[in-house]
Order: sequence, then C-alpha cells, then structure tokens
Amino acid sequence: MTQHYEDSYLELTRREVNEIFMKDEDCTPDIIRVAPGWPIAGSSGVIITDEGVVVVDTGIAGDAPGRVQKIRQRTQVPFHSLIYTHGHLDHAGGAQVFIEDALKRGHPRPGVIGHENVAPRFDKYQRLAGRRAYISRLQFPRRPGAGASSQTPVPMTYVYPDVVVKDAMKFRIGGLTLEIYSAFAETDDCLWVWIPERRVAIIGDLLIGGCPNTGNPLKEQRYTLEWAQTLEIIAGKNPEYVIAGAGPIIRGNLIDVVLLDTAKYLRTIHDQVIDLLNKEFWIEDIIKRVKIPEDLAKKPWLAPTYGHPVFIIHDVYRRYTGWYDGNPSGLFPADSAGIGAEVTDLSGGAGNIMKRAEQLKEQGQSQLALHLIDFAIKGAKDTATRKEALLLKSEILNARADIEPSLIARNILRTGAVTAKDTAEKL
Ligand SMILES: [Zn+2]
Repeated sequence: MTQHYEDSYLELTRREVNEIFMKDEDCTPDIIRVAPGWPIAGSSGVIITDEGVVVVDTGIAGDAPGRVQKIRQRTQVPFHSLIYTHGHLDHAGGAQVFIEDALKRGHPRPGVIGHENVAPRFDKYQRLAGRRAYISRLQFPRRPGAGASSQTPVPMTYVYPDVVVKDAMKFRIGGLTLEIYSAFAETDDCLWVWIPERRVAIIGDLLIGGCPNTGNPLKEQRYTLEWAQTLEIIAGKNPEYVIAGAGPIIRGNLIDVVLLDTAKYLRTIHDQVIDLLNKEFWIEDIIKRVKIPEDLAKKPWLAPTYGHPVFIIHDVYRRYTGWYDGNPSGLFPADSAGIGAEVTDLSGGAGNIMKRAEQLKEQGQSQLALHLIDFAIKGAKDTATRKEALLLKSEILNARADIEPSLIARNILRTGAVTAKDTAEKL
C-alpha cells in the first residue's frame, strides 16, 4: 500500500487515483478504513470491539448507507459511538444514517462525539444554506463541465454532538483506549483519535493525499501554523498506521516522512508570508516571492492535486491582515463596467482586445488572456460583441483549467466556463 504514496498521483490517471482512494483497507484485524463512494469525501476509521463499534467519521449523507452496509458485513456488534474528526459534511453528514441503522436493529442510540465548535459550525451552515449550496456547486460540479445550477444538495440531518470535546478526552472500549485530541487545522473543530494499543492514528483531513486544503478560495479562515504543529504532535506518537481523510492507509516508516514533510511545507509557507509582511510586501508580491523548497515541491504527498500552495499563502495573509491589497486605487474602486469601457475605447474596440486575448491563449498565456477578455466583456458596445467575448472567455477558462492540477481550482475555472457560455447563449 505504501507504493501508492511513492507514486505521484499527478502521473496516474484520474480513474487510477479514484480507485486507490475508494478502496477499503484493514489496518489491524479490528481497525479498518472504510473508503468513501466518492473519492473526495472523507474515509471512515472503524474500530471493532466486542463491546461496541466506534466509527470515526460517518461520510456524506448519500454515501453513509453504503458504509453502514460494509461495516455490517463484518460485524453485528452495536455502534457504541460516532466521532467527528470535524464538522465538514463529508465527515459528519452521514451520522443520522448510522443512528437509524442502530435503532432499526433495536440497539441503543450511539453517542456522538465532536469538538465544541461543531455546534456553531452546524448553526452557521444552516444560516448560510443558500450560499453553501452555491459554492458547493462551484467546488464540486455534479458532472464535469456541468453548470453551477445543475446540482441539488443531498438531503441530510444535522446531528449535533452529545459529547463535546474542548481539549481532549479518552475512554476505554473492548480492551482498547481511545485518546481524542482537539486541534485547529483545516477547521476550528478538529479532533484526532489515537489508539495506543494498536499504534493507530485516525486524523480526518489533517492529511488528504496531497497538498493540504488550507486557504480554499471559497471557504472561511483556516489554521496553517496550528495544522503543522498538530502533524508534529501526531508524528511524536510514533504511529504504525495513519488513517487519513482521503487516500490509502499510511504505514510504517512512511508515516514520519509524510507527516513531517507536510508540517515543514505548511511552516515554510507560513513563515515566509510573515517575513514578507514584516518587510512591507502586499499579496501580489508575496505570491511571487514565496519559494517552496524543491525537495518538498517534488513530494507526491504534497502534490497540488486538491489544495494549492497559492491558496495557503492567501490563507496566512488574510489571517494576519485586512482585505486591502496595498494599491490605493482599489480602496473605493470605480464600477468595472466603466473601467472596461475606457480600456476598450483606448484599445480601438472590443475586437482588438479579443484578438490579443486569443493570441495569448494560443501562446499558452491563458491567465493573462483572461484579464484582457474581461475588459472586452465589460466594454462591449453591443450584444453581439459581448456574446462573442463571453464565448471566448469560456474557451480561455477551459484552456486555463486544462493546465491546472488543483481539482478545486479546475472546477471553479470549468464552472466559470460553463456560466460564461450560458450567459452568452441567453443574450
Ligand atoms: Zn474537511
């Protein structure tokens, strides 16, 4: 299994990566990883004892029945408790399905253990339901190339924890000790589980088989430095197995390398951003100047297949600064349509801008082409020209997506391409 981590996911086809991420595995005879039915959703770590089954992460609501079924094929022992490694719904969204299975069998309702910040997170999710459904469609379009309006959310019940963890807790079950520790990392409500008798750590999205997802452009603040510290603490336990939120079980000697490389990667980005802030740089120059050490950049377990180092820079930046980008021209910006009209007129019309944008796309400079085409869209004097510019933007966005390794970034670019095309067709 370690072989999977020694190959770069970037060199595998998407189908091969999905197969690895969606394969169940045994850690020990009594601790298993139940994989998600969807490669990006969180895995479950399942601890099977004669006294009860503990499930660490329940998966997304739509995927939970399959997980229950897989666990029930191994054991009929009641669920003792469900532990959330954090309140993201691909980890906590399936709890009701596990509870209903227990009640249907006449078993007691399992306890639900979560960080004290899970409840405020669930409250926030419900307050922002419309916005969350929208950004989910950008981050995870249902079909490749599908528009942002094509997905309906999976119905689910929010199951609030009834055992709340602030710092740490532990309990014993079936001869095993479950030590549960809190952390700030991908979220402010992380828990990770350590089972000393088996030397197994179950850590949720503290590792996801690639560059950590801190700084997701669609989501709130994350905690880069504390994330690094947590990975170092886990490495200090000397685990023999690590079940992470995504990807295969990490085993043996590879654990230290993966945990500590990831910690080093997060720390160097964090520290460089702090240093550049202190030297009076603003975001654009910070992004240009942060250097990822070459040895780390090459590690397959840090490949930017989902998270991205530029997103991490943004995350650290926004944690310590305001939203201002350092250019006073943008403090109270003019309407972008007015700016577009001025630039388009100066360029001799939208046609000239489109011609240059097309050239840049052909030369492999799709990012620069995107900035230009926006002036033409905003400054177009008639519907036919605006339509042409929108269709070109859709093509350029797809060209930019084609060279983008990060799934999150690629999906945002591709949904943008679909939206530009849809908008053009409705004109
Ligand atoms: Zn997560």
